Amino acid sequence: MNIDLSGKTALVTGSTAGIGHAIAKGLAGSGASVVINGRGQEKVDAVVRKLQGVGGKVRGIAADVSTAAGCKALVAALPEVDILINNAGIFEPKDFFDIPDEDWSRFFEVNVMSGVRLSRAYLKGMLGRNWGRVVFISSESGLNIPVEMIHYGMSKTAQLSVARGLAQLTRGTGVTVNSVLPGPTMSEGVETFVKDLAKQNGQSLDEAAANFVKQHRPSSLLQRFASVDEIANMVVYAASKEASATNGAALRAEGGIVNTIA
Ligand code: NAD
Repeated sequence: MNIDLSGKTALVTGSTAGIGHAIAKGLAGSGASVVINGRGQEKVDAVVRKLQGVGGKVRGIAADVSTAAGCKALVAALPEVDILINNAGIFEPKDFFDIPDEDWSRFFEVNVMSGVRLSRAYLKGMLGRNWGRVVFISSESGLNIPVEMIHYGMSKTAQLSVARGLAQLTRGTGVTVNSVLPGPTMSEGVETFVKDLAKQNGQSLDEAAANFVKQHRPSSLLQRFASVDEIANMVVYAASKEASATNGAALRAEGGIVNTIA
């Protein structure tokens, strides 16, 4: 299979680092014209420069997708896309009894409403043109709610629900809406978190990562963190023309942590 996305425009939210960056690189490598997004112009510009020459055309738009104003500005600058990857997201372990209302709202705004607002803006155009791909980057934590960050789990389950609901709107068209569920993945954000753990416990980064999987994700069949590219591969496939029969699905790339068949 040779994935060719030339002629398609893709927006990847939160693509200046981590999984989003790997997805942007993968889509550009498959010939798509890719729009990088992050909150800061400087970082966006740096990533655009880095990804020039990977394949398809790469440009950037700085906007905070966690706010209505940020999404509005983004859509004004980019009125149409063929592929929307709702990747931007935040996570932070916190005891349930210490999570204030503001954190619940913030997690919902960043992790859920960003994708809701952008889908509202772009999905109609995709339906009108009879081709499009929307992918929500949810998490295995949307199925196995982590007790150390219930608010994050809530937001990741909500994304699954939104994605499945939107897929119902695509009946009989060439548009698909799916979710991809990564498990622990060594992105920039997670590396910072694991480095802190390593420092606290006097371990190397590799030891802390291996311990994290053993202690917190004991059912993992992979028994290690995934790389960002391993997740991006699944997302690029879901965004491809070749994935035309996959719609409304929650695609797991979580190393087998979730002990169910489907
Ligand atoms: P990361 O922290 O490494 O990168 C996140 C990116 O999003 C950064 O570029 C950041 O600048 C950007 N971003 C954050 N808030 C933004 C906003 N309001 N507007 C625009 N950009 C914003 O994160 P990651 O680990 O790569 O996670 C990416 C997605 O994957 C998230 O939705 C996360 O929930 C999901 N996920 C990650 C893991 C993991 O272990 N890394 C596991 C499952 C799911």
